[in-house]
Amino acid sequence: MRHSACEARFDPMSSDLIREHVRLVLAELPSGVSLVAAGKTRSPDELHAAIEAGVEIVGHNYVQEARASIAALGREAAAWHMIGHLQRNKAREAVELFDLVETLDSLRLARALDKACAQAGRELPVLIEVNSGLEPDKHGAHPDEVEKLARELADFPSLRLEGLMTMGPFLDSPEQMRPYFRLCAELYRHLESLDMPGAALRTLSMGMSDSYRVAIEEGANLVRIGTRLFGPREAK
Ligand SMILES: *Cc1c(COP(=O)(O)O)cnc(C)c1O
Repeated sequence: MRHSACEARFDPMSSDLIREHVRLVLAELPSGVSLVAAGKTRSPDELHAAIEAGVEIVGHNYVQEARASIAALGREAAAWHMIGHLQRNKAREAVELFDLVETLDSLRLARALDKACAQAGRELPVLIEVNSGLEPDKHGAHPDEVEKLARELADFPSLRLEGLMTMGPFLDSPEQMRPYFRLCAELYRHLESLDMPGAALRTLSMGMSDSYRVAIEEGANLVRIGTRLFGPREAK
């Protein structure tokens, strides 16, 4: 539906096409690699088509969008992951909505999430987001600080560390992203070797539409894909 004449032309993909794309991507993923459908800006109908075709995890970048999707599709329709930056003042809502938070990147956020979990009487699996490109304007923990943060999470009884997530810098070719995925995978293996209490490492979330193949080669077992499933996002 067009709300104003000056909005960019944009035609959402048909449900059939979305289903086809989901099936192609799922068929391509090696066993042991799971798919998160990155749901930002997508309507409940688009997400529904993806779920029908086999998507089991939907990722959202914003609490509000997740709330709307969950209200429309039902909690049980998928597992819901937070994949965007989470502000501490949204911790309570995040704990209410998400099955897993992929973007834990500070002790203060951990404290807020743990407190909200205690109030809600639940545990929350989390991934630490790593700023693998050392980009000053990006979120995520600095690679040198990941081990410290991971160890500190043992103090929060409601949080269960399950792995790492990274975006990496936006570069022209996926091959250029390989070193950042490799760095994050090395960090992941290092954490595994520490055998920390309260951690149950099992998830390395890396790779998007353009880069998931390289990310999988570097060890990702969770890929977050939007455009490849749903088509380009409407320009803001
Ligand atoms: C949007 C988004 C993705 C997916 O990006 P595409 O290029 O559309 O596949 C993955 N991860 C995060 C954190 C995102 O915000």
